[in-house]
Amino acid sequence: MLQHDCRHNIRIVLVNTSHPGNIGGAARAMKNMALDQLYLVQPREFPAPRAVWRAAGATDLLEKAKVVDCVDDAIRDCGLVIGTSARGRRIPWPIINPRDCGTTVWKESICHPVALLFGREDRGLTNDELHKCHYHVCIPSNPQYSSLNLACSVQVIAYEIYVASLERNDLTRDKQNAWDQPIAKNEDLERFHTHLEEAMIDVGFYDPDNPKQLMTRMRRLFNRVRMDEIEVAVFRGLLSAVQRRLKSNIKKCDQ
Ligand code: SAH
Repeated sequence: MLQHDCRHNIRIVLVNTSHPGNIGGAARAMKNMALDQLYLVQPREFPAPRAVWRAAGATDLLEKAKVVDCVDDAIRDCGLVIGTSARGRRIPWPIINPRDCGTTVWKESICHPVALLFGREDRGLTNDELHKCHYHVCIPSNPQYSSLNLACSVQVIAYEIYVASLERNDLTRDKQNAWDQPIAKNEDLERFHTHLEEAMIDVGFYDPDNPKQLMTRMRRLFNRVRMDEIEVAVFRGLLSAVQRRLKSNIKKCDQ
């Protein structure tokens, strides 16, 4: 067995899955690759006999799967979120290949929960969901027919994590070299983005009626930076100070 096994920190999140067979197939793929944290965001049909049938011997994963209402509920406490996508999007996002994804997920799972998001069978993940991610991962495939079956894509990504786990059993060293502060969790970042948006509106820098993708660009910037908890707190303190000063100046002008 591996020295530092943090695979309970690795979660596979299936978003709005239509076909219960794919949920079962994903559970089987996960169990083959020794993962067991399955999150289901508003599945269309679950529990379902077809899921059980496709899961074969992995029904234990279905039994303990967590069904949640929205993506945020599945990733709140995660320090790393990776979205899977078969195609490029309008605003390019940091991309990681499946192999590096396996290594990164395995390495970071020692420090915090990590989520891998998988989209709907018919239209993948929404832009909002993809913008919550630090990286996007695309499984290389035939450009003329690039979209894999959902459970098959879970299989490929879970396999890469498993291979990484076999190659990297020296995670104690990673822990020692880790950052001095915990990386900000998704819920801290969501609160930060809301605060940033408010402050940018207050100072007249951002007009929500004419957004021009400003908030998306801000998300992309801060997801690249990977702020730690103290950095988020300092930044939010700065935003609050700007807002306070603005309010007191407005009051002075009114007097
Ligand atoms: N028609 C959809 C594809 C959905 S396939 C679209 O154009 O986005 C369902 C899900 O399987 C995707 O959301 C993604 O999570 C995963 N998937 C399928 N093919 C993939 C690929 N080549 N790389 C990464 N993920 C893939």
